[in-house]
Amino acid sequence: MKNLAAKFLLPLISIFLFFILFTGLTPLPYFSGNLAIAQTTDDIDDDLGDFEEFDDSESVDELGEFEDYSKPAGCGKESCNSLHQTNIARQNKALYWVFGILGFTLLAGVLVRFQSTRNLKGLFLITSIVILGFYKGACPCPISSFSNLIIWASGVHIPWQKLIWFLGLIPITYLVGKVWCGWICHLGALQEFLYLPGRLELFRGARAQKVMKIIRLLLLALLIVQLLVTKLYLFSKIDPFKVAFNLLSINMTGWILLGLLILSSIFIHRPFCRAVCPIGLILGWIGKIPGASIIGLKGECRGCKVCSNACKIDAIHRYPGYSVLDNKECTACGDCLDACKKEGLIFVRKSKNHADRVVCERDNGDEVSADSGILSKH
Ligand code: SF4
Ligand code: SF4
Repeated sequence: MKNLAAKFLLPLISIFLFFILFTGLTPLPYFSGNLAIAQTTDDIDDDLGDFEEFDDSESVDELGEFEDYSKPAGCGKESCNSLHQTNIARQNKALYWVFGILGFTLLAGVLVRFQSTRNLKGLFLITSIVILGFYKGACPCPISSFSNLIIWASGVHIPWQKLIWFLGLIPITYLVGKVWCGWICHLGALQEFLYLPGRLELFRGARAQKVMKIIRLLLLALLIVQLLVTKLYLFSKIDPFKVAFNLLSINMTGWILLGLLILSSIFIHRPFCRAVCPIGLILGWIGKIPGASIIGLKGECRGCKVCSNACKIDAIHRYPGYSVLDNKECTACGDCLDACKKEGLIFVRKSKNHADRVVCERDNGDEVSADSGILSKH
């Protein structure tokens, strides 16, 4: 009965809730009332102006990313007021989406903790591709939300609704781990399904991980400088995911990058996540805060290396004689928890007793220290 619920009922309920929240087909009066407001506007398909197709023109705001939603000074005309109302309606509708997405991220953080519900991960990822990808056009996403935050920090007026997605992921990651990356993100999901494990697995191992991390750090620094200097979210002009989820796009650079992304994703597990994405990098740092949700040792580790084989994102590195689980790289996918037959890994809170880097020696019969999460060499 328990298995039946996990296999059929929970997936169905999840899909139902996902569609209700994300398509606006909601029976809740509060939501439908606001949907009605949005439907009186001309742009209900474009919640925050982030979904418009872009061309190669030099217009400053071709994606509507930086619209000023405040009422212009001296605006008293009827058309001006109506535009202002339209913008407010757009903000409201977009907000429901973001809260819905954050709610499902939190839900995923609960489901990943139980063996019987961990198999819902695939369903969440597919649903995310369909809804956040093809239905919503892949943008906005936390990367645009983060970029807006930096632009806002430089003094440009950005509606607070545009910052919520990225800011909301910070407490959620603290509470339940980087489950956004492992279970929900449509960009990560697309790469996940393109990957063909066991073929020609490139860029595995600690050294490759280090190189990709350095690249990611450099790109983050570059992105911040670019945003502060130009005050524009230029990545969206070349975003390969946007092209992938809007197949009629005429953006040539985007198509070339999409080709590279597809090719690399077949042989490297989540190359964009590991070498480019600023969100995964920043959310990874949250595991360093005391009390944050991380993966730790339960105390039954036998050093069999099954978990490191299961971790496709390479968060568990093998060294001669020992393995290290780096929670900064961990996407809270839960695969290692399923793989470990000894149930040696578990979600814990970062503390003095549970470091964010879990070291486990293997094959030498050393004693496991469950308290420290560290198995030290004797
Ligand atoms: S690292 Fe970035 S692209 Fe990858 S899953 Fe996380 S947020 Fe998405
Ligand atoms: S260590 Fe690897 S396999 Fe385990 S939850 Fe994190 S990302 Fe998944």
